[in-house]
Amino acid sequence: MDIKELQKIMQENGVVGAGGAGFPTYMKLTDKAEIILMNCAECEPLLKLHRQLLEKHAYEIMKTFDMVAETVGASQAIIGIKKSYVQTINALNQHIEEFPRVKMHLLDEVYPMGDEVVLIYEATGRVVRPGGLPIEQGVAVFNVETLYNVYRAVEEHKPVTCKYVSVVAEVENPVTVKVPLGCTLEEVVAQAGGTTVKDPVYFVGGPMMGRIGNGSDPVTKTTNAILVLPKDHVIVMKKQRTSSIDLKRAASICCHCHTCTDLCPRHNLGHPIDPAMFMMAASNQDFRNVNPYINSAFCSSCGVCEMYACPQSLAPRTLLADMKGGLRKAGIRPPQGVQPKPVQESREYRKVPEERLMARLGLTRYDKDAPLQEELVNVSKVKVLLSQHIGAPAQAIVNVGDMVTEGQMIAQPAQGLSVGIHATISGKVTEVTDRHVVIARN
Ligand code: SF4
Ligand code: SF4
Repeated sequence: MDIKELQKIMQENGVVGAGGAGFPTYMKLTDKAEIILMNCAECEPLLKLHRQLLEKHAYEIMKTFDMVAETVGASQAIIGIKKSYVQTINALNQHIEEFPRVKMHLLDEVYPMGDEVVLIYEATGRVVRPGGLPIEQGVAVFNVETLYNVYRAVEEHKPVTCKYVSVVAEVENPVTVKVPLGCTLEEVVAQAGGTTVKDPVYFVGGPMMGRIGNGSDPVTKTTNAILVLPKDHVIVMKKQRTSSIDLKRAASICCHCHTCTDLCPRHNLGHPIDPAMFMMAASNQDFRNVNPYINSAFCSSCGVCEMYACPQSLAPRTLLADMKGGLRKAGIRPPQGVQPKPVQESREYRKVPEERLMARLGLTRYDKDAPLQEELVNVSKVKVLLSQHIGAPAQAIVNVGDMVTEGQMIAQPAQGLSVGIHATISGKVTEVTDRHVVIARN
């Protein structure tokens, strides 16, 4: 198979990064990739989906990874996996001799190891420039579930219609389930036997970078986990604070200790992001030097500064995100061509151990197994979003009243960066807008 052919299969079958921002996979398939990297670092605490999926489908995923390396002409195919994932490593070791190009790189249990920029440095020693793409360093990164979706598209001719989602924390039976895209968060949580607290809050994603969701929100191609938390949990309270309060608190109690910058994973890789300098400038409304504001563009929103580092429980990440959004709205683009400084010598000693992070966030008691169930959950209705990826939303090609079958394309890729969207259950189309298609099962 050549690159163009594989790209076409990926775009038509709607394969995008299964997590994060949902970057269309076909755009990562290029002959500029010298190294391809499989991300099995499970960035967020409590999440176990990728190690489980890779353990269960080790052969299929490795075979696909090797095929992608062959197709793009990469000389190395590295699986970045945390050394504590012993069962998954054992499963990989059973097949690794069959794929001489594939190697494992064992990673420490630190956060945010799954951040592409951090992972690339750890596994290859290459530093992606601030605001740059991994491919500029000759690297393309794919997560485990994305590669499994590539396998299904290539080998089984199946488009992306379902998602594995872990349901953890305040639920009867933590579990990882396979659900049709477009079902509700509530339907997913029900698979864990229901919640164990009154007025639960659904935290979608992970504890560090997730967001508070509504029970009626649809599952998308990037929904990895639902954390069910009590409404007075520290993570929920932090998320619900407003930026104006955050700024006032910063002005009154930031002690300029610099810990947020010292522990910032991007700063330690030589990127010009400096949360302490930003907090000082923003809380004093000091605009003599605009760099701390402009450099907010290089924040990855990992949350180390506000969820772990700050002794005063301030919110540099939230305020930086506000600034980034404001600059974008004003049409101010991030500075181009910025080169990183050398990696900080102290970086090794400033990594955030995941165990300490979980303890600080009050999550240790939720660190339990969430076994993977492969049987597809049955729902009666789905609301399939037309934009589940970075780029242009797909364009609906069905009308109200049409009968569709699972896997049928219901929205075609738009011009530019875009992928197709497919029916995730068989049934009748009951609603079509420029944002979604609703299908009711027969
Ligand atoms: S969220 Fe904080 S720690 Fe993370 S990259 Fe941004 S400034 Fe650095
Ligand atoms: S860690 Fe907190 S108190 Fe220290 S400089 Fe950063 S924002 Fe201020």
